[in-house]
Amino acid sequence: MKVDSKSDLYRRLPSVDELLHDTQLSQLIAQEGKVAVTNAVRTVINRSREQIARGEFDEQTLSDLATEVVEELQQSLKHSLRTIINATGVILHTNLGRAPLAPAALDHIQNTAGGYSNLEFDIESGARGKRDVHVDHLFAKLLNAHVGTPAPGSPSPQVSTIVVNNNAAAVLLALNTLADGAEVIVSRGELVEIGGSFRIPEIMAKSQAILREVGTTNRTAIGDYESAINEKTKLLLRVHRSNFEITGFTDRPRLDELVSLSRRRNIPLVEDLGSGSLFDLRTVCVNGEPTVFDSLHAGVDVVTYSGDKLLGGPQAGILSGRADLVAKMRANSLFRALRVDKLTYAALEATLLAYVKHDHDSIPVLRMMRLSKDAITARAHEIAKKIRSPKIAVDLIDGESVIGGGAAPSAVLPTCLLAITSVDFSADELAERLRKSDPPITSRVQEDRVLLDLRTVFPAQDGFILDAFAKF
Ligand SMILES: *Cc1c(COP(=O)(O)O)cnc(C)c1O
Repeated sequence: MKVDSKSDLYRRLPSVDELLHDTQLSQLIAQEGKVAVTNAVRTVINRSREQIARGEFDEQTLSDLATEVVEELQQSLKHSLRTIINATGVILHTNLGRAPLAPAALDHIQNTAGGYSNLEFDIESGARGKRDVHVDHLFAKLLNAHVGTPAPGSPSPQVSTIVVNNNAAAVLLALNTLADGAEVIVSRGELVEIGGSFRIPEIMAKSQAILREVGTTNRTAIGDYESAINEKTKLLLRVHRSNFEITGFTDRPRLDELVSLSRRRNIPLVEDLGSGSLFDLRTVCVNGEPTVFDSLHAGVDVVTYSGDKLLGGPQAGILSGRADLVAKMRANSLFRALRVDKLTYAALEATLLAYVKHDHDSIPVLRMMRLSKDAITARAHEIAKKIRSPKIAVDLIDGESVIGGGAAPSAVLPTCLLAITSVDFSADELAERLRKSDPPITSRVQEDRVLLDLRTVFPAQDGFILDAFAKF
């Protein structure tokens, strides 16, 4: 076919109105509305003009314009935020949204967030209520039994809890409330940076507290804290090192030594736990990761931790501890700026109820941690058996899943990996093809193989992995 001249093509390009009257588009208008379709038509026509100018436009393109509008509209109305299949084996993957929520949490969001709720309303009295009551009593139920013995003469302690946007906000609120303009003592070995630019010294500066570093990177003794205390000291801060470990010639005070110093000198002790587990990881053979219970039992005054790390709930920062100190934080105007919405309370309440019922397997991240290697191997076998593409070779090999989220950084869980290689593609190309399938599948690349760990894949998603390989 002879290529039309450019001016001929420009002339034959339909107007927006003409294209809108194409029969193929009338149904689209009924479904998606005239505004959206008109925008897509404009985009397609503008693009066509550019294509004509570049000589990339012909009869065929001209006759397919309506189809192009349909595709353009589908593309432009697609969500940016999409489901991804996490086959990396990293359970708490910050880039993939950390903890998937429990079905009960989703139900509770669904039931309460689409309408009005008693978020700040006392149904009994009809008076204004407080949004934090919805989870405070559940935290109290879970935590009270674990609080250490009170100082002599003090009443039996009740744990209070408030919730803010994330743990970075929780640390900021704690520092600003308890040490605005005053000194906070921290070990040099704990001045950490957590992914996403959370740095203890910077948060400290923003909170208007003054950082008083003690000890050295690898060794800090209780005496270092003691000798740094002066009349300006208002707080002792302990920070979970989260994403790294210091080994070798190292030392830092035990938590009980810090607690006794804090009580002796009457200076509160706050611990930034980071992950803050309500579940004993020793039951899945992971040692050395303290629970929220351990810290409160040891006598820490206030602990801060994330809602979407080991707790397995929504993004949130949680402050649990001494009622008088938590009340001060609630009264700080920063608390109002950092507060969370009803979706978070709904998800958190349902997640905490699962803990109250000891229904740990209903919380996805806990279920993933508790999955046995045998159960993962059985699923991997099923998938390997069904991958029939002649271009793909599949092996089952031993491997390790990791918890992520800064919890127990060196701990691993034994797993079975699908190791994929191909005669036609490099490992990086294979990984890219998996990432570009629908839904996208993320994997690990190691030693020229693509590794898929089913620990972090929901069993209902196994079929998508097969579908992706069927297209290779
Ligand atoms: C993860 C982490 C934070 C930041 O928590 P976010 O909920 O991501 O804001 C702060 N401190 C420690 C020790 C952490 O591990």
